[in-house]
Amino acid sequence: MAQKITPASVDFSRWYTDVVQAAELADYAPVKGCMVIRPYGYALWENIQKALDQRFKATGHKNAYFPLFIPESFIKKEAEHVEGFSPELAVVTYGGGKPLEEPLIVRPTSETIINAMYAQWVRSYRDLPVLINQWCNVVRWEMRTRLFLRTTEFLWQEGHTAHATAEEAMAETLRILEIYRDFAENEAGIPVIPGRKSESEKFAGAVESYTIEAMMGNKWALQAGTSHFLGQNFAKAFGIQFLNRENQLQYVWQTSWGVSTRMIGAIVMVHGDDQGLRLPPRLAPIQVVIVPIWKNEEGRAQVMAMAENILSRLSQEFRCHLDDREELSPGYKFHDWEMRGVPLRIELGPKDVQKGQAVLVRRDLPREENRSSVAIDGLPTAVQDTLDAIQRNLYAQALRFREENTFYPTTYEELREAVAKGFALSYWCGSADCEAAIKEDTKATIRCIPLQQDGKPGQCVYCGSEAKEKAVFARAF
Ligand SMILES: [Zn+2]
Repeated sequence: MAQKITPASVDFSRWYTDVVQAAELADYAPVKGCMVIRPYGYALWENIQKALDQRFKATGHKNAYFPLFIPESFIKKEAEHVEGFSPELAVVTYGGGKPLEEPLIVRPTSETIINAMYAQWVRSYRDLPVLINQWCNVVRWEMRTRLFLRTTEFLWQEGHTAHATAEEAMAETLRILEIYRDFAENEAGIPVIPGRKSESEKFAGAVESYTIEAMMGNKWALQAGTSHFLGQNFAKAFGIQFLNRENQLQYVWQTSWGVSTRMIGAIVMVHGDDQGLRLPPRLAPIQVVIVPIWKNEEGRAQVMAMAENILSRLSQEFRCHLDDREELSPGYKFHDWEMRGVPLRIELGPKDVQKGQAVLVRRDLPREENRSSVAIDGLPTAVQDTLDAIQRNLYAQALRFREENTFYPTTYEELREAVAKGFALSYWCGSADCEAAIKEDTKATIRCIPLQQDGKPGQCVYCGSEAKEKAVFARAF
């Protein structure tokens, strides 16, 4: 029988690991801290890649590839960067049978190696902007790992851009943040809060970091993508200079930004339930599964002929699969595809074939209300409409869940209660001391200072002094 999934209400963390493994998204690797992304999980990642890549290219970015190894001296050139990343670096000291003259860092992120190249490529304002993205793996030595959420090696995209002015670089930072928001909400069905990171939570080496934050099924936050305004920090460290129109030598202004395989963890934790995964149709590796049902040989022949006919018609527009495994019962198959989060199931029995109809079963709705009969001739339209409805409904459910679990404390006592049960949106004075005291006491961190503010000043939820902005406080993965 299929692997049993621990109910999320009993133990969310075990539920998560059970779902990831039972649905065959990923498995633990022989190397501690590493994971194997299995074909079903990788197909999901490929769909994430396609959706993001289209958006990057539509905004003028090009893909390139830079080396996995970074000379140790490069990492040390930007002071905050090296301080932030040092504890989690993997270092190669031996190669080709002898000690290396200079140790090589296995990239934890590629600002340093990429900017060393930009320093050679950029000469004049005509070379700008540089808009490059790379899809790759990175390594950050993690002591405690969780599949997709925190692993020593993970996959991601990292964009690195260089611009003539601070304004252009800031516009790029926010353009990418908007791409991430649009992707998360419209492809992954995950409502997010776009905002700015506090000083203590920002990327090592950035001037400002921006993020999209999402609420997971246990009401904790997950950072689902980040976009950094780097100012001239790396430009000065690596000497990336250009002659402007007035023939003056200037340093470039830069950004970097990334989304990783963590996004898969977010999809699992936002949409999944006790039956397993629920995948948003736009990203699901299989959007429609056809399950034929028969009792005897005659029924089998009729049903299979029609099922194959439906498969070939629907495959032109949708990612479809016909489950023709003979040794398994329909009930087992239903359960199996529900666990794997396939958005829509088509059931087809001998009576359906006689009536010229099929039964559609939605994964996103409760059992009592998830079935409908549709004429076979009308299937392509009905499937498209139903997938669209599922996509919208998953987003709406997640948004409702976040709204129901977001609180607006005005006193510290209320904030303490709020972060134990969800997100707290409260005024914060901007002091790192208030932020640290709240974290120490409640384990909640500032997830972001939302871009959207009502513009009215208030009092800091911790110290009571004047505050211009509200921040989202929450426990986080
Ligand atoms: Zn304060």
